Amino acid sequence: MKRIINFSAGPATLPLTVLQQVQEELLDWRGSGMSVMEMSHRDKEFMSIAAEAEKDLREVAGIPANYKVLFMQGGATAQFSLIPLNLLRGKAGADYVLTGDWGKKAAKECGKYGKANVAASSESEKFTKVPDRASWKLDPDAAYVHITTNETIHGVQFQDTPDTGGVPLVADMSSDILSRPIDISKFGLIYGGAQKNIGPAGVTIVIVRDDLIGQAAAMTPGVFDYKAVADNESMLNTPACFSWYVSGLVFKWIKNEGGLAAIGARNQRKSSLLYDYIDAQDFYKNPVAKKDRSWMNVPFTLPNPELDAEFLKGAKAASLSGLKGHRAVGGMRASLYNAMTEAGVATLVDYMKEFVRTRG
Ligand SMILES: *Cc1c(COP(=O)(O)O)cnc(C)c1O
Repeated sequence: MKRIINFSAGPATLPLTVLQQVQEELLDWRGSGMSVMEMSHRDKEFMSIAAEAEKDLREVAGIPANYKVLFMQGGATAQFSLIPLNLLRGKAGADYVLTGDWGKKAAKECGKYGKANVAASSESEKFTKVPDRASWKLDPDAAYVHITTNETIHGVQFQDTPDTGGVPLVADMSSDILSRPIDISKFGLIYGGAQKNIGPAGVTIVIVRDDLIGQAAAMTPGVFDYKAVADNESMLNTPACFSWYVSGLVFKWIKNEGGLAAIGARNQRKSSLLYDYIDAQDFYKNPVAKKDRSWMNVPFTLPNPELDAEFLKGAKAASLSGLKGHRAVGGMRASLYNAMTEAGVATLVDYMKEFVRTRG
C-alpha cells in the first residue's frame, strides 16, 4: 500500500487508523453481519452508532447541554440558506463580516430572505486579514452576526472569538471545526461540513443554542427546520449514515490523541513549521497578516506563476498531493487539517527547500 501525503483543501486526508478500522468493519460491522452502508437508520445498530457519535462529539468539543447537535445534509452551502431561514426569526436582517469568498457566498444567500448587512469586509485588501473589531458596523437589531472562522481559500482565520454583545454569533467553521479548543458558549450557532476536519463528505454538523430554534420562517422546507431536525434526532429522513459513522470514529480518534488541546497544539506546530520557513526566505510568499494566518490552510506563491506547474510536478513525484492553490488566489495552498502529520509538513518544507535549491 502506498499512501500520498494529501494537502487537499477538501475532501481531505483522514487518520489512517480510522480508515483501517473502517476497512476491518466494512463487511461485518461488529457481528451484525452487514456493513454500516446496508443498515436501516432505524435499526438499533445504527441508532447506537449515531448516539455514540453525538456523545463523543459533545465530550470532545465541550458542547453545553443547552445546545442541539444536528447531523444534516447539503453541506455548509445549504446552511448559507438555512441559517437565515431558521434564525432571522422575524427580524429584518443579519450582519455579515467578510474575510473571504465563503462569507460572501453566505451573505448573498441571506439576501434572498432578509437584509444581509456587510458589517465589515477585508475585500478591498484582497481578504488578507480580519477587519479590526473596532471598525465593524454592527446593528444591535440584527438577528445574528455571521463570521467564517477560517476562510479556506484565502488562509485567513479568526484567532479569537469576537464579542458581539447580545446578538448571537453564527460561525461557518467548515475548515477549522475541531481543530483546537473553543468556547462553544460564545456562539449561537456553529456549522461545518464533515469533509475537511471530520470525515467523509455527506454530513454537515450544526451546533445550535436551543433558544434560537423553533421560529423558522414559514417557507422553510420541513426537512431543514432545525427544531424538527432536533426533535427527530436528525432522522426526519434517511441521514448520511456512512459519513455519520466514520465521523464518529474520528471523534474517538481525537479523544485518543489527547483531545482538542493536544490536536490544537499539534496544528499550531504544523502551521508554524511552514510559516517560519516561508518568512525566513524570499522565494515563497504568503500575503496574509501574521496575526490572522490560518493554522489550517496556508496559501503561498512562487515568484513566477510559470514555475507552478513544475513545482506541482516535482511535488507529485515526491508523493505530495493536493497543493494547487484555489483559482481565486493562485499559487499553492497546503491544507494542514487534523489528520495531516507533522512529518508530512516537514516533508513538504524539505521539498520546498529542494525546489529553491534547484530552480530558485
Ligand atoms: C468547504 C467550505 C464550504 C462549502 O462546503 P460544502 O460542504 O461543500 O457546501 C463553506 N465554507 C467554508 C469555510 C468551506 O471551507
